[in-house]
Amino acid sequence: MLVDPFARPITYLRVSVTDRCDFRCTYCMPEQMRFAPRPELLTPAEIERAAAAFIRRGVRKLRLTGGEPLARRGVLDLVRALSRHLGRGLDELTLTTNGSRLAVHAAALAAAGVRRINVSLDTLDPARFAAITRRGDLSQVLDGIAAARAAGLRVKINAVALRGAEEDGIEPLMRWCAAEGHDLTLIETMPLGEVGEDRTDRYLPLSTVKARLAERFALEPLPDRTGGPARYMLVRELGLRLGFITPLTVNFCDGCNRVRLTATGQLVPCLGHETGTDLRTVLRATSDDRALDAAIGAAIAAKPKGHEFRIGRGLAPAVARHMSATGG
Ligand code: SAM
Ligand code: SF4
Repeated sequence: MLVDPFARPITYLRVSVTDRCDFRCTYCMPEQMRFAPRPELLTPAEIERAAAAFIRRGVRKLRLTGGEPLARRGVLDLVRALSRHLGRGLDELTLTTNGSRLAVHAAALAAAGVRRINVSLDTLDPARFAAITRRGDLSQVLDGIAAARAAGLRVKINAVALRGAEEDGIEPLMRWCAAEGHDLTLIETMPLGEVGEDRTDRYLPLSTVKARLAERFALEPLPDRTGGPARYMLVRELGLRLGFITPLTVNFCDGCNRVRLTATGQLVPCLGHETGTDLRTVLRATSDDRALDAAIGAAIAAKPKGHEFRIGRGLAPAVARHMSATGG
């Protein structure tokens, strides 16, 4: 089993299957993003082998992310291969997507054993959506979400909270999620990677959002903990379960159960630190899984206690690596 120096069992692996993306969300990456050369990306077979090593050591939940996971060629074969572990050590295989290709892939994902997915959607306003994503088409994403539901997938919507016009869009998003039966989680923007603008201007603390919502709705804290960083409230009038992920305003690292495998095979034990262990070299050097196990064990033994994110004018990102490379 994998237990870190702070007695936290590691049971959750997130894998960035590609750092590439068809969107360029303003808080995630710059317009002229430079991606890793393709030979540097782990192959699907390497991802599968690494994932199997984690599952042998007690990882029970696997999330494919990116970049845009559904933009990676062969990702469905990878999902099918990984789904063979379901019920044999793995409890859940899931995915976080921007939804742009979900209409095409939803049925195949469901057939491969995926039951729930997270879709990132920051606003229901088509113009603001296009501005935030720089290239996204809201109607495609909404079609994708509808296809996911039709295929029997449960959908959770993730929205990054942004100061500015988007603030007014939070309530419509809440009402829509409630009407459609999706859970909604709001996320504070994190200082990961240069994005070509100062994040300070767009950073919206969720303490502010919560205080404003409390003026209009009865917010009831829920005891639900899904093993992740979100804290949940019931918005009584809407019957909506609303999650808050607050890396900036309320630290949640005490209960951390996760590590991340980057698109290029770095095992990153904490999102808020530059440190990582190069699993790609081990994967490519030998087919002996003992070396892989040893590298994974050493990385977990070096997992930091937590992050110390700060956003402020003139402050550099806490970590140079973008969320798309690490796997958000
Ligand atoms: N492309 C997929 C998507 O957007 O869902 C998966 C990868 S994306 C990096 C995963 C999540 O990270 C998205 O919900 C996105 O909004 C979030 N994200 C990206 N950059 C972020 C940042 N700097 N701070 C907080 N969340 C961020
Ligand atoms: Fe792409 Fe997701 Fe980053 Fe947006 S948040 S640019 S969709 S990886």
